[in-house]
Amino acid sequence: MPHMIENELAEQLLTQRLDPGTIQMGTRAIYQRLLEESAYLDGGNFRRLHANDLRRMFDLYDDLFFAGACRKMLGEMPLTFRISPRMTLAAGKTMRHEHFTPQGLPFYCEYEIVVSSPLLMQTFCGEEREATVSGLVCRDRLEALQRVMEHEMVHLLEMLLWHNSNCGAARFQGIAERFFLHTHHTHALITSRERAWREFGIRAGDWVSFTHRGARFTGRVNRITRRATVLVRDPEGVRYSDGNHYRKFYVPLTLLQRTEPPAERTKPAAEGV
Ligand SMILES: [Zn+2]
Repeated sequence: MPHMIENELAEQLLTQRLDPGTIQMGTRAIYQRLLEESAYLDGGNFRRLHANDLRRMFDLYDDLFFAGACRKMLGEMPLTFRISPRMTLAAGKTMRHEHFTPQGLPFYCEYEIVVSSPLLMQTFCGEEREATVSGLVCRDRLEALQRVMEHEMVHLLEMLLWHNSNCGAARFQGIAERFFLHTHHTHALITSRERAWREFGIRAGDWVSFTHRGARFTGRVNRITRRATVLVRDPEGVRYSDGNHYRKFYVPLTLLQRTEPPAERTKPAAEGV
């Protein structure tokens, strides 16, 4: 893409402000188009999502909001889309992978936009609190996904134009606000941690018990992502910073029961003294 067009686009991103009515009409049209065209989305609160839906959404945004400038700037550089079941805190991510020749010269670049499936899927399940993404209230998963895609597109545009992108910085936030009405650069979708507390009353640090291969174990929740990481005292286990040995289990939340801390076992007498 000639530099002139890049400069023009940069200028436009830094100064132009879209009319709020136009933004809302545009994003609504994209919402409708996706539902009509997608082979996977079964409604605004879709139960499954395919990487093709992300690609289609991206292209609709690029055409409508940026006159195809993202695709033009990308040129031959590949842009792939992925849905991650492992991203439990970030709702989306835009990544640049740089490849070098054996001589260490820049060879080619590719970009990837990844969206978290757990954050979308465990929100809009009838919870009482509002879900916001980028400061905007979302009524369903598709609206939330749109806000995530808008955020990631600003990251991609910044990377293409200025190499670096930072949603904590003023330039990013200005673009996101003037093009998409975003007021925040974070999301308030339901995280696994919040869901664990809301549905199962379990938080990090709690004592829990569970059954594994017919044996009953008791331990403490160390971390909650898609599953809970539970540390169970075990002399054969790995030594932790508190001096005790633990075995680590990854347990689905549905299999955990909250329990009382076990009674302190009497310490074995010191040997060889
Ligand atoms: Zn960001």
